[in-house]
Amino acid sequence: MKAAQISGFGGPEMFRLTEVPTPSAGPGEVLIRLRAAGLNRADINIREGRFAESPPPPMTLGVEGAGEVAALGEGVTAFTVGDRVAINPMKFCAQCPPCLDGRDSECLHMRVVGEHFDGTYAQYIALPERLLIPAPERLGYHELAVGIVPYMTAWHMLKTRGQVRAGETVLVVGAGSGVGTAAVQVAKALGAKVIATTSSDRKQEQVRALGADEVVDYRAEPDFHEAVRKLTGGAGADVVHETVGAATVQKSILAARHGGRVLGMGSHTGRTAEIDLWSLYRREITFLGCHLSNRAEIAEFLPLLADGSLTPVIDSVYPFDAAVEAQARLDAPDRFGKVVLSID
Ligand SMILES: [Zn+2]
Repeated sequence: MKAAQISGFGGPEMFRLTEVPTPSAGPGEVLIRLRAAGLNRADINIREGRFAESPPPPMTLGVEGAGEVAALGEGVTAFTVGDRVAINPMKFCAQCPPCLDGRDSECLHMRVVGEHFDGTYAQYIALPERLLIPAPERLGYHELAVGIVPYMTAWHMLKTRGQVRAGETVLVVGAGSGVGTAAVQVAKALGAKVIATTSSDRKQEQVRALGADEVVDYRAEPDFHEAVRKLTGGAGADVVHETVGAATVQKSILAARHGGRVLGMGSHTGRTAEIDLWSLYRREITFLGCHLSNRAEIAEFLPLLADGSLTPVIDSVYPFDAAVEAQARLDAPDRFGKVVLSID
């Protein structure tokens, strides 16, 4: 089969479309014929050699993907050949105490598709059936490939960790990213009023079209927390969805109201930041670290993907042999939503 692999550490040019052995489905596993894959910021960390847990190149990257069931391993009962499926990339062990307690996203032996082992930039992948998600009919393969992970993040942050309630004000910082576009939709679905930060007139329109009530252009207003205060009668937002990292985390804290919650996940502008502790302590902010949803949470948001309340936002679709160009697009300033690799 063909796979888009990195041949070494470096920029997007490290990707090569190469011939590799087709995997087969072991006991309890399903072989998936992949039709689309979603690009993810994790690619950049691995590609640049900053993720110590990845195997050395050559490696097939790709965290997100969707396709159809091509073959069943021994003992698989929940799927049949031809079923359309998406992938939960969190390969939990299903045996450790958190897994047995239903908290599989906290698995003590977690291995992530496309991070700890070969991923979805390939024609086939074999995975345990517990990682397969039945596809909502409404979604085509491109949307399906990027319809799980951004919502696994946004749902876990806003619903599970943030406990966002109808009528609250949610600030989504960096609303043009894959997870940002998902967060605007999830916050609206939870009944919140949404303020979003983004750049450029075009992105502002796109964010409003997703349902944002107010948009702050962070290029025009770099101190976006001041703008958020103005939009909230001087108080600040009840909840802040922060996925940008060092460049924005202090302002995100300042944008929350006294007693507000700041939800943090993602750090592509830097993992270490200087924070004024008084901005947390004196204003009694709750800062909640976040990662990804477990299976029960995925089951909560799947109906919203099926009925159209949540619609994955796609920036661009690239053919399988254009992995280099697709990777370059990840860092484009005007990117809005997810970059998809179409696999033929
Ligand atoms: Zn486990």
